[in-house]
Amino acid sequence: MQYTKQYSEFSALQPKSLRSSLRSAALSALHLKERLLRGSNATLRVPRVQLLFLHHIFEDEMEPFDRLLRELAQTHVFVSHSEAVRRILVGENAEPCISFSSDDGLKNNLHAAEILERYGATACFYINPNSIGLSKYEQVESFCRTRLEFPPAEFLDWNDAEGLQARGHEIGAHTMGHINVAETPIREFREDLERSREVLLSRCGAARHFAYPYGRFFHFIKEAMAEVFEAGFESCASAERGCHTCARPVAKDQLLLRRDQIVAGWPLAHNMYFIRRNARLRHLASDEWPRVIGR
Ligand SMILES: [Zn+2]
Repeated sequence: MQYTKQYSEFSALQPKSLRSSLRSAALSALHLKERLLRGSNATLRVPRVQLLFLHHIFEDEMEPFDRLLRELAQTHVFVSHSEAVRRILVGENAEPCISFSSDDGLKNNLHAAEILERYGATACFYINPNSIGLSKYEQVESFCRTRLEFPPAEFLDWNDAEGLQARGHEIGAHTMGHINVAETPIREFREDLERSREVLLSRCGAARHFAYPYGRFFHFIKEAMAEVFEAGFESCASAERGCHTCARPVAKDQLLLRRDQIVAGWPLAHNMYFIRRNARLRHLASDEWPRVIGR
């Protein structure tokens, strides 16, 4: 009964397919093409707000995560999640900037915080109150398997969450128990939002941001977005790729944040491919809920 501590172990326990091997080879080729066609860092120097998010920094991901931050720090300023949201809302695009967040509240997010702090950066940690502080292996294993589709990995406890906040990071809501919002009656979702906000306010003293679980457009509905702001949250985040041009102001309750997932255990070139490509295609990602949703 052991918790997963290494990314190598974690990825080996996830279903491997021919598709994932081909995907990896394709990403290496695409990265080269992106660099050859678009120059090395010109795209990265474009003023914009790009939000990166992760789920875990296992022990063997600490060094690669540090290397990724070192690379990004050459061409970007790192801002807090709240500051990134502010810049997008007012349409302030003075410089290339990146903000960080992390979903699901795994204990190894403490590694992420420690490395971010070396670069003067902070993150918003989106947590599920129902998994925070779980200490029985069976409960952790069950939550990871049924809600996150992960091998068993330890969660933060409330002291960790308070400590992160005291060090300048933010704690955001990700629903009480990692539900699929698109499959949840709106009334139930409203209650979940109110409860999540209440718990975060009482445990951490603040609850400004919300990210819905699973993250694709089809895991959410536009009516649910209105509920997020109604409950008092200031922003709503997806896990759809893309970045924000900040070319014009956006109304607060219309903004749906796009975030690029990074996995420190991937080759650096693969993470850089997505960051560079989505910076280049920044005009394709709108700030709002999309008119047409492709699956
Ligand atoms: Zn999640």
